[in-house]
Amino acid sequence: MAVTKIEKLPNKKPRPIEGHKPAAAVLRGVVDMVYNNAWEAKKRGELVGWSSSKFPIELAKAFDLNVCYPENHAATTAAKKDGLRLCQAAEDMGYDNDICGYARISLAYAAGEPTDARRMPQPDFLLCCNNICNMMTKWYENIARIHNIPLIYIDIPFSNTVEVPEEKVDYLMGQFKYAIKQLEELTGKKFQEEKFNEACKIANRTAAAWLKSCNYMGKEPSPLSGFDLFNHMADIVAARCEVKAAEGFELLAEEFEQSVAENTSTWEYPEEHRILFEGIPCWPALKPLFEPLKNNGVNVTAVVYAPAFGFRYETVREMAAAYCKAPCSVCIETGVEWRETMAKENGISGALVNYNRSCKPWSGAMPEIERRWKEDLDIPVIHFDGDQADERNFSAEQYNTRVQGLVEIMNERKAEREAKGEDVYTNFENTKETDWSKPTM
Ligand code: SF4
Repeated sequence: MAVTKIEKLPNKKPRPIEGHKPAAAVLRGVVDMVYNNAWEAKKRGELVGWSSSKFPIELAKAFDLNVCYPENHAATTAAKKDGLRLCQAAEDMGYDNDICGYARISLAYAAGEPTDARRMPQPDFLLCCNNICNMMTKWYENIARIHNIPLIYIDIPFSNTVEVPEEKVDYLMGQFKYAIKQLEELTGKKFQEEKFNEACKIANRTAAAWLKSCNYMGKEPSPLSGFDLFNHMADIVAARCEVKAAEGFELLAEEFEQSVAENTSTWEYPEEHRILFEGIPCWPALKPLFEPLKNNGVNVTAVVYAPAFGFRYETVREMAAAYCKAPCSVCIETGVEWRETMAKENGISGALVNYNRSCKPWSGAMPEIERRWKEDLDIPVIHFDGDQADERNFSAEQYNTRVQGLVEIMNERKAEREAKGEDVYTNFENTKETDWSKPTM
């Protein structure tokens, strides 16, 4: 089936909110600020840490510590096309090329391999939580050995149940206490409860604004593409406890609201199809990922990766439970529910899955999740081989062919459904107002 190239719609470009810079520019500045603050702290002789993306950073904020985020740093390095070189440098050091690309980039950088992509100060201490994945543990242990520095570790085991059991929260509360003691010894300061409470307040404000922004993908037509959210991931990972990040996301949500009212969108093409894009994007290949979608009028209106970093809580116990929920640490039932709720809220007619060679835990769960989508949502699901950081594992040709296949099936089903007067997309009416990121305690 031939596919016609989709032309841009006239006058669809959104405008910034009156009297403000565009939110995207504001948010870019916030990430730069986090890294600059870390460099300034290092120059003043203060301690600077490296943290995994879902470590309960609120604890470190109670000590005014500056931290950088190796996952974010690795993603930026990969997006700026220096990831492969650093991956290979890590392999030359003896690390296997089957290890996650983020870890390889970070280990090479920690060992002194330079990069011009984005630089961050070398760490004086490490904060690691295995709620992201267990590979994290070995990654951070190796960095601790390279620099001979303390590693503060929170163990959040994989959740086999949908609910977070009370005893798991008890286990985490004990670890929070111990981490505070370790931070007190590290900094020579006492834990400052007001600063901790303030950090929690800002983290919740940032998360609320981020989730609100993500939810605009549920509008039809959508005022954004899921790819816009990928561009803001650095903020939600590295700046959750910064007021400026909260303000940036509030501005972003306002822009989307304005776009809805003015019928504009960052997705400047007709929305022929709406899909769920599953997994971490291939950062070095964002353009090759986006182009075939754009050329076929396929807008991404559901992504799991972005809202997974927006989580809210009211008490410290709820905070502990919220940190138990990350894409690779929840059971299949929760994983399916997150995605299917989003599919129903946002309206999709197909899904595209990145079998990300770097991220074994994520890709490993996908065959069963895909099977459930086909059964529960009756949508076509197509996957491709990719990698978030290692360019050797992505083929643009294979990807184009897979997108083409998905478009052909969606075209056929769309024509059939329209002829019968049926909904093309997963049913908006069946949608309940679920905040799937909220801890279920
Ligand atoms: S990409 Fe996957 S394997 Fe790599 S750190 Fe993240 S969760 Fe772990």
